[in-house]
Parts: sequence; structure tokens; C-alpha cells
Amino acid sequence: MARPPRPTMNLDSSFFWEGVEKHELRIQRCAGCKRLRHPPRPMCPACTSLDWDSIVASGQGEIYSYVVHHHPPVYGFEAPFAVALIELPEGTRIVGNVSGDPTALYVGMPVEVEFVRIDDSWTLPAWRPAAGARDSEATEATEAEA
Ligand code: ZN
Repeated sequence: MARPPRPTMNLDSSFFWEGVEKHELRIQRCAGCKRLRHPPRPMCPACTSLDWDSIVASGQGEIYSYVVHHHPPVYGFEAPFAVALIELPEGTRIVGNVSGDPTALYVGMPVEVEFVRIDDSWTLPAWRPAAGARDSEATEATEAEA
């Protein structure tokens, strides 16, 4: 399979990608009001401060929303694949792919980060179902009983 397109890395996002190489999910935090934000950007949308640092997130989260992409073909990805908005317990959200059966996903599904080595020069963060995730058959059975 072809490799996915390499993300843009710049002065605002380099800390994030350096963390990914160390298997850390770093999230930008405003130095003024302490609000987290992702993707990284120069100014806090809440207080307009330009000062920031970062935290290392736990790598746990849950699916806030998702789509399963079927068509058209996307270079570097094999359809169908899931793209999800992950709610982090630290207090912000992040977009990423979720591995496994895309038909088994549901809103609220617990997920955990994984670091996928694309080649010798870069790694991509992604998500996989975590402990406590229901499988889709169990979900259907539960709904049928209700
Ligand atoms: Zn702020």
C-alpha cells in the first residue's frame, strides 16, 4: 500500500511531531489561560495570548464523532477507513484514523493512541479500540433486548 501523505510540519507543529517520534501525544496549552488546543496554532482563540507550552496527554480518549470513508480513493489509504474526532479526557479533541473494523465503531467508544511507523523518517499517531469497547454484535444484541 502507498504511504499516506506526510503532514505539514512547521514552527507551530514541530513540538507535536517531535513528541510523536517519542511516542508522546503532546497537546498545546495556552500559557495565559491554560486552555488546550489542537491542531497547534500561534494564538489562543480564547484569550489571544501568543505564549504557550504543552502537556503530554494520556493517550486515552473516546470517539466524539466519526465518518467511514468509502469513495473516492485517497492516496495512501485503503478504503473503507475511519476518520474520527477523538475527545481527550484532558479537555480538547483531535482528529485521527481508527484501526480495525470501521463498521464496529460507535460514538463514545473508548480508544487509545497508537504510533504507526510509516518509514524510517516519520511516525503517524492513530487510534485503536481500547479496553471496554463493545463489539458491534454486542451492541446490536443490547439494542435488540432494550
Ligand atoms: Zn488562552
